Amino acid sequence: MFDLTDELKQMFDLAKDFANKEVWPVARHLDDHAQYPLEQLKKCHELGLLSAFIPEKAGGLGIGVLGHCLLAEAFSYGSAGFGTAAIANELAGIPVVLGGNEAQWKEFLSPMVEAPLMAAYCVTEPDAGSDVAGIRTTAKKQGDKYIINGTKMWITNAGHAAWFFVLAKTDISAGHKGMSGFVIPANLPGITIGKKEDNMGQRCSDTRSVIFENVEIPQKYLLGKEGDGFRLAMSAFDKTRPAVAGSAVGVAQRALECSMEYAKNRTTFGKPIYENQGISFMIADMARDIEASRLLTWKAGYEADMGRKNTYFAALAKLNAADTCMRITTDAVQIFGGYGYNREYPVEMLMRDAKIYQIYEGTSQIQRMIISRHLYDCKF
Ligand SMILES: Cc1cc2nc3c(=O)[nH]c(=O)nc-3n(C[C@H](O)[C@H](O)[C@H](O)COP(=O)(O)OP(=O)(O)OC[C@H]3O[C@@H](n4cnc5c(N)ncnc54)[C@H](O)[C@@H]3O)c2cc1C
Repeated sequence: MFDLTDELKQMFDLAKDFANKEVWPVARHLDDHAQYPLEQLKKCHELGLLSAFIPEKAGGLGIGVLGHCLLAEAFSYGSAGFGTAAIANELAGIPVVLGGNEAQWKEFLSPMVEAPLMAAYCVTEPDAGSDVAGIRTTAKKQGDKYIINGTKMWITNAGHAAWFFVLAKTDISAGHKGMSGFVIPANLPGITIGKKEDNMGQRCSDTRSVIFENVEIPQKYLLGKEGDGFRLAMSAFDKTRPAVAGSAVGVAQRALECSMEYAKNRTTFGKPIYENQGISFMIADMARDIEASRLLTWKAGYEADMGRKNTYFAALAKLNAADTCMRITTDAVQIFGGYGYNREYPVEMLMRDAKIYQIYEGTSQIQRMIISRHLYDCKF
């Protein structure tokens, strides 16, 4: 698999053209004002590119994981924060795709095809991030209802979401097996959305806490059966981590192009700086690392689309692309010299934007844990 299908190529070109013309020109403004990219998400929906993961049976495009990697790269090439806002819909939606029934697909997924609705994935809590088993949110069964109590933290899209995927404990003594997944409309009584967090990068994306206080939900909002939640929340990562890797590739690609342009125009000692080997080698290394990250990202997506378990490749792709993106954006600032450190030029934004890829959807340390465990479990 070294070539994309014509369909995927066309979709990628469309998304990249949109990101370049409609998103990149406003990326700095959105960052400066920490403004949610509502208008750009609406245009993205008009093009049929928002929530394209939704299965055909629910009225969507059902583009698959490789397709989503491509969209993520294109979106984040326009703006990393825009990319995160758009891709978070997939993170929230995949547990519903995997564990939801027809009625849940109809109530929560199909409307996202009709309108530019957003969704959020609520797993992390103030005291539990990497260690998901440490969550404290509870869902207590009362007749044919559940009562949800708890606080979720760092939730992307929380302030704009129509609904949440929520991981809660239905049996606090049963560890992973005591966790259940719910799909919960955002406007129910007892739900409070926190203030928009003042983050270092991707400042246009919306990150907030979500507090559930005695929120009553009907039993029909349970995904699958009690105890399925941890599996659903983690299986989603196999499909979304490749897309996060794709996003990191998009930001790195933008940093490479900005660096090449700048190095051509900036002269020192009577010649453009790219004619110095110290600079041209840095640019060559950027191109090498982007191509390698892209291939690993596609591989992780392809494995999932072939129906094979891709946890290992998803972790390799995300780890590699995140670290690569951080290094490349840091080198881009170096190539710009003093101007790179200034907000009038784009690369300082790219460097701030890059950092989160090493943290969310499982930190780089957690990816290494997954990879090394896989290696030791394999028979040599
Ligand atoms: C902008 C942003 C958006 C986010 N969006 C969402 C979202 O939409 N939904 C959601 O549920 N969450 C979201 N998150 C939360 C994110 O997934 C967590 O922050 C992340 O999983 C890390 O958890 P933590 O912050 O609690 O760090 P901790 O788990 O406390 O980890 C702290 C440090 O210790 C390291 N560490 C932890 N355990 C180990 C170990 N066993 N071995 C080695 N090192 C270890 C970690 O790698 C990290 O460097 C978001 C976070 C941010 C900042």
